[in-house]
Amino acid sequence: MPAGVAVVERLGLAEAVGGAPFYGVRYHFGGQTAEGRFPKTLGLPEAGRGQRRKHLDAVLFNTATATPGVRVHTGAMVEAPIRERGCVVGLQVNGRLWPSALVVAADGAHSRIRHLLGLDRPAGRKRLGVRAHFQLPPGLEQPPWVDVFVHPGYELYVTPLPHGEVLVAGLAYAESVRGAVEREFHRWWHSQPVLATRLERAKQITRLMATSPLAGRARMGVVPGIVLLGDAAGFLDPITGGGMSQALMTAELLADYVSERLGADQRWLWEFERERQRMLRDYKILTRMLLWLANYPRLAERLLPVLRASPKLFSHLVGVSGGVRRLWGQAKIPWTLTSGRRDRLEASNAHMH
Ligand SMILES: Cc1cc2nc3c(=O)[nH]c(=O)nc-3n(C[C@H](O)[C@H](O)[C@H](O)COP(=O)(O)OP(=O)(O)OC[C@H]3O[C@@H](n4cnc5c(N)ncnc54)[C@H](O)[C@@H]3O)c2cc1C
Repeated sequence: MPAGVAVVERLGLAEAVGGAPFYGVRYHFGGQTAEGRFPKTLGLPEAGRGQRRKHLDAVLFNTATATPGVRVHTGAMVEAPIRERGCVVGLQVNGRLWPSALVVAADGAHSRIRHLLGLDRPAGRKRLGVRAHFQLPPGLEQPPWVDVFVHPGYELYVTPLPHGEVLVAGLAYAESVRGAVEREFHRWWHSQPVLATRLERAKQITRLMATSPLAGRARMGVVPGIVLLGDAAGFLDPITGGGMSQALMTAELLADYVSERLGADQRWLWEFERERQRMLRDYKILTRMLLWLANYPRLAERLLPVLRASPKLFSHLVGVSGGVRRLWGQAKIPWTLTSGRRDRLEASNAHMH
């Protein structure tokens, strides 16, 4: 999503990360289509980028490895946090204890560390996610949009990738998936004529992967000595497509706090948490609204012409999901920039005008 692309740009990694641009989201329901374009927002990209996660991870990992002062340990299974007097003081990894000034737990939606610290919160109804990658035949391209095919019982997300590849991901409430997941996934995309035609001569290039439940909620995102980050800090659902952007934005925010405050007392952890919650609030509200709507596909179908007739409103909502707009209030330099950087950008914008 654009807000995540902005972080990658600020890291100076846009070129290395690459990816296929997309300009917004197109919803398809029955025979209808509505197109929501990311809004123009000063200082922020107007496009998202579709890229394989393994490539993004490799670029981030190699950059971290080449950073002075960083030591990398791969193949390390974190077993448990070590606690002393209510404070996390390190990790147990492959039976060995590693003391640390601050632990950052970025171990995913089903975070083991969150669980062991007793920070899990019950999640709602179980959802299921599946995905596979396809190679389109020469001459055929996924248009520069994320296409979302909505159907009672499931949604399919089609994202452009470099080199003529596409990602096809499916989401559904787990109880509505009756047969084998592979068979259901094929049934889903075959029953969408636009998608079935696009994939007719395409070759599936990755195994279908499935995961459930999708949500993982946290009672708190910080406790003394530790910060949960990315999905570990709480993940609702991929329905709004911003998981990676949120992980990148909040990692950038944390980096700012750590570089200024680590070593002082730990009150800053709660300041960070409040700023993170503000940053993600509107995105979460929108995700909850869409999850609710997924229960009422006929209502969603009736909303589609409304969105088509109000391109500004649709663009605004797509901007919220892309992390570049607030739900209410004016478009302004958003939370995607950390406080120090936001101040600097505001100062330079004021200078430009
Ligand atoms: C079907 C589906 C489609 C999605 N589509 C999109 C999309 O199009 N765009 C988007 O932005 N987001 C999407 N998401 C969401 C996105 O995948 C997540 O938000 C993102 O992966 C979060 O990144 P993370 O690094 O926080 O967690 P993860 O990607 O889950 O990474 C956690 C890492 O921690 C490691 N780990 C876990 N436990 C331990 C341990 N004990 N010791 C050592 N290592 C450990 C894991 O091996 C893993 O490498 C999708 C999710 C699903 C399920």
